[in-house]
Amino acid sequence: MQTDIHTHTTYSDGSDLDAMITAAEQAGLSALGLTDHCIVTEDDFGRRARYDLVETYQQRREDIRAARDTTELRLYDAAEVSYVEGTESRIASFLDTADFAYTIGSVHFADQYNYTSETQYGTASATQRRRAVERYYDAVVALIESELFDVVGHLDLPERIPVLRRHTTRADYDRVARALADSKTVPEVNAGRVHSSLGRVHPDPAVLDLFTEYGIQFVLGSDSHTPAELSQRVPQLRAVTGTLDRYPVSDVLGDNQRHRDFE
Ligand SMILES: [Zn+2]
Ligand SMILES: [Zn+2]
Repeated sequence: MQTDIHTHTTYSDGSDLDAMITAAEQAGLSALGLTDHCIVTEDDFGRRARYDLVETYQQRREDIRAARDTTELRLYDAAEVSYVEGTESRIASFLDTADFAYTIGSVHFADQYNYTSETQYGTASATQRRRAVERYYDAVVALIESELFDVVGHLDLPERIPVLRRHTTRADYDRVARALADSKTVPEVNAGRVHSSLGRVHPDPAVLDLFTEYGIQFVLGSDSHTPAELSQRVPQLRAVTGTLDRYPVSDVLGDNQRHRDFE
């Protein structure tokens, strides 16, 4: 593993850029993707957390440029963009302007559902939970079909939420794999919850066969928000993808690179 494609800095909910760079150097990486949350359309995530990369990306770009003089690491000026169905043209026009090295598209919310917290599912029946999860995969498939993004983030995100866990079916994964097979978008192996109750990467290694059947390759993202997370998760990603030799990992966004100027 040379590249961690998914990390956050103080331009969203992460840590100081220099500290993330130091951690990446110590982890033996040669490239680091800076993918702060980018909310083009006001979804609940934007309102709640006030991620404002849409306004600050140029300032971050200056910081990244300055940081390049201090490190051998290749730094990617990238973004994790919240995908909201129905707002594709607004997202497209912003991404055209911002011209990031690459983008990760992520579903964090869909309709009334929040996939970043379990508070709303406390009293939900199994049927209601399943409906929430199904809605998530509808949105992920739409995200992939939109062709707006280079990478699809944490593709089985509802598994992070204990009350929604195991409501994802093999058919859901199959639906996502089929959409990916027809798309330029590649999935990531995401280590955002390897040390939490989920205890594994996204997507579930148990369903990898579904993806390999379609010839799909993955890129690797730690989804770190702190240097300590990066230090712990990069070795975990190496271990998971190294021991599973059927993990088809590609170092930087596979053959599907649409991003131009990676520097
Ligand atoms: Zn995310
Ligand atoms: Zn993230």
